[in-house]
Formats: sequence, structure tokens, C-alpha cells
Amino acid sequence: MHIATSPAFKENAHHALEDAGLQKALARSGPSFIARRTAAVAGLPEFQQLRDIARDIKNHTLANLDFYLETWTANVEKSGGKVHWCATADEARDAVLTICQAANARTVTKGKSMISEELGINDHLERHGITPVETDLGEYIIQLRHELPSHIIAPAFHLNLEDWEDSFRKSHTDLPADRVFHERRDILTEARTKLRQKFLAADVGITGANFLIAETGSSVIVTNEGNGDLTQTLPRVHIVLASIEKMVPTIEDCTSLLRVLARSATGQDFSVYTTFSTGARRPGDLDGPDEYHVVLVDNGRSAMLGTEFQEMLRCIRCAACMNHCPVYGAVGGHAYGWVYPGPMGSVLTPSLIGVNQAGHLPNASTFCGKCESVCPVKIPLPKLMRHWREREFERHLTPPVMRTNLALWAYFARRPGLYRLATRAAAWGCWVASMAASTGCHSPRAGPAAATFPPPRATPSSPATPVSNAPDASGEPRHHAGGNPPRPSPRPPACRPGGHVARPAGIASTPSDPGAIAAAARRAGRAVRRQRGEGVRQRRPRARFGRRA
Ligand code: SF4
Repeated sequence: MHIATSPAFKENAHHALEDAGLQKALARSGPSFIARRTAAVAGLPEFQQLRDIARDIKNHTLANLDFYLETWTANVEKSGGKVHWCATADEARDAVLTICQAANARTVTKGKSMISEELGINDHLERHGITPVETDLGEYIIQLRHELPSHIIAPAFHLNLEDWEDSFRKSHTDLPADRVFHERRDILTEARTKLRQKFLAADVGITGANFLIAETGSSVIVTNEGNGDLTQTLPRVHIVLASIEKMVPTIEDCTSLLRVLARSATGQDFSVYTTFSTGARRPGDLDGPDEYHVVLVDNGRSAMLGTEFQEMLRCIRCAACMNHCPVYGAVGGHAYGWVYPGPMGSVLTPSLIGVNQAGHLPNASTFCGKCESVCPVKIPLPKLMRHWREREFERHLTPPVMRTNLALWAYFARRPGLYRLATRAAAWGCWVASMAASTGCHSPRAGPAAATFPPPRATPSSPATPVSNAPDASGEPRHHAGGNPPRPSPRPPACRPGGHVARPAGIASTPSDPGAIAAAARRAGRAVRRQRGEGVRQRRPRARFGRRA
């Protein structure tokens, strides 16, 4: 199992923003995914209807998941395969290891599979003397670099060409040191040469599954490199690692989902290879494994059924949400600290490893709604992230300052009159602060930055040096000839002799000072009650603000 660094999301994000190589990779790859999807969707007029169909297929399957899982299992066994039901990650790892050991496997080839990353299969096999070899090009280099994928369909999304070259030179030391990498094709050729030997030597091949088809007992993978086909047909034993939500009822349903999958993922009409596997090799088959196993993994999914997070189980792992997410586009996938990044990870990760571990992720969203608008199965990702924020709040996992401010906001939101008064008071505070800045009267809290904002302008009627509006003896601000014109009412507050604004009671120094705003709002509330002739109540105990709004 990978150690989650999701609790350190903020630190991870800071490092990501300062990582020049990562920023270069994100700037290069991100826009191309978006452009290709846009073009692919534009070329299919019925795409939006297909999204509805895709959503309905997945909803229907999830509503009848027990039936389809049993039907599928019966059909896998009918075609000579074996299903290993695994409730937990430990059970799944042990099932894979047992199959490999029974086959006396020394080398295992692997197609790209996010569930394999979730379970930490590679580490488990290595600990037991079995060598796993990733055969997807992106996964291969990630394995060489001992890193995790940063994207669910492009694992090496965070790398640049020079990183590839550097890793290949360090790892492939048997090849001439003076070889030259002119372009991506050179990288590809070298990887192909290396991987061919591994394909031929492998005793077991492990792939994931994009879909499991109940009516035939088949598993389906889509790839662009052909490595998945070699992984599942060359070795004697084929293991499919799949989670329970990959189920679809029929081949026809599967093809409907395939039509939205590739377009949403890579902007292709269809992936280069779409391979259906049904059982082991039968007499007369030209190729195929002698044994076909499916390790069927729950690992927390069934607990999502019947909850507000069930909709997340519709996900078909296309990555469109992260490709369009401004947060992912800024910090990349590793900042999320676990297997699934981006908006889908911000919902799925707390479901799988707990909101106490991954509570920052649902907060890492601008709620622009782009993820939901591009999701081919219409998962309401912002709504689900909001649910996680509520859970986080209920469990007192949010920082005390945020809890207090949220509770305060909720308090005012339930009292519209008070809300209006408080926002007017805050707006007046803004105005006072801006007046102080423009007249040169410095707020004691404003500091040097506020003193130079707005910057002085050098125009014929406005000298480059800031105009002092220090008050005259009458207490009115004084306007120099050629300086700023007199301000209209409301009348600005007088400046004290020391040059500080005499801030009216209840007005925050700046609108971004939540503590001061809270205090101002409390005072404003008391003033309203006094005006109404109500007694001024003592401040409510803090615990009240901890309740859910
Ligand atoms: S949540 Fe939707 S957009 Fe994101 S990976 Fe899943 S199916 Fe694709």
C-alpha cells in the first residue's frame, strides 16, 4: 500500500508550484488534452445524448449490482475462468500472490491499472521475490524512477523529454552511452527493445479492466500501445484486476460507454486497441493464456452504495475532469498524495482512505463546475465534494478558524436583517481603508504595502509624490492645489494627530481580516438589539457555532 501524503496537500501544492520542470510539463500537456477532447466532441452531434445514456447504464448497473456480479461470475466460470472475490486490499494482494506462486512465476508483466496502484501490487510481489514489469510506456518510466503515476491515463504526465532521456541512460546501462535521443520516437524504440524481452520471459500477465460484461463474463481493456494485448496473451496465466463498479450488463452497453470514453479521455473516436477477453484459451484458439483469473476487488466500494457518494461509482476513469481542472493544472497529480488525483480523486480518495486522511482534497476546488460539465457519465463532482466538506465539518476536522468563520456566516445567513447590516458595516470598513490609503493616513494595521497602494501616478495634474491629506486645524482633510479633488460624502473619518484613521467601532480594518469582521459583526448585532429595545444577550457558548448549519 502506498503511504498517503494527502494530509500534506498544502505543502505538496506549494512544492509543486515551485517545481519548474513540473510546471513546464503541465503547461505543455494540459491544453492539448482539452483541445483534442473539444474537437472529438464537436465531431459527434449525439455526444450529449450519449452522456445521458452512459449515466443511465451505470445507474442501472449500480442499482442491480448484486445481480450483475453474480451473473457475470457464473459466465466467467462457464468460460473456464476463475473469480476471486476480495473484500479488502490485503485479500486482493494475497490472491494475486497465490496465483503467481502457483504458476512458479519469477517475472510478471503488467498493463496499466489504477486498481493495481491502489492495492500496491508491485511492492507486494517484489517483497515475495517476484519481479513485476510495467509495460505501458508511461508506467514503465515511472517504475524506473520509483515514482507514482500523476495522472490516471497518462502516468508520466509530470515528466519532460529530458527526464525520460535521463532515466533511460541511468537504467539501460547496457546500451551505448553515446546514443542520441532526437525525439519521442527514439524513446519509444528503446523502450520497445527492452520490453520485448520481458514480454517473452513473463510467466504471468496482469491487466486491469475498463469494463466487465455480465452477459458474457468478459473483461475489456482499451490501450493505445498494444502492450495490454501482449500482457494478456503471451504468458501462461492472465490475471485481471478489477473493482466491482466496472460492471456493465451487456456488450451493447459496453460499446455505448466506449463511445464516450475515448473521446473524453484522449480525444480519439476510439482507442487504438479495444480487447475483449473471455476465459482461458479454448481448443482451436490461436493464442491466449492457459489460465484466466479475475481478482474482483471491493476495497470500500460497496460501502459507497446507497450513500450520497454512490454516483462516484459511475466513474469510467477517462480523466476529463482532471484535464479541465484549474487546480490539477496548477499543481499536477502528485500533490493529491494518493493514487487518484484531480476532482475524481477529491471525491474517491476520502471514500477509500477516509476523510481524516484526505479532507484537504475536496477543499482543493474552485467549484468552477468544469469537471461536472465534461464528465461523460455526468457525475456531480462539485456536489460530492461539498458533501465531503460537510462530513469534514461534522467531524470537527476543519481548522478551528475556518469552523468559527463558517459557523458565523451561517449565523448571519439565518438572520437576513443582521446579515445586511454586517455586510454594510464591512463595506464601510473597506471604504475607510481605501480612503486611508488614498489620503496617506495609514492604518496602524495596514503596514508598508497598504501605504503604497494605490501607487502614485506622475501626471501634470498629479505630482509623483503622494499628496498628503493630513487634516487641518478644523479636522477636515486638506487638499493641495493640483492634488486629489475633494471627496463626496459620506464624510471620511478624521485622522488622529498621529496620522492614523480613527476607525469607527465595529468596523474591520480590512475585509480579509476574518477575526475583526467577526468581532464587528458581533458588535453590530448587539447594536441592532439595543435599538429594538431587546436586552443584549451574552455571547453564545462556542459549542453552538460548532453545529452543522
Ligand atoms: S469523474 Fe467523470 S470525468 Fe472524471 S475520470 Fe471519472 S468519468 Fe472521467
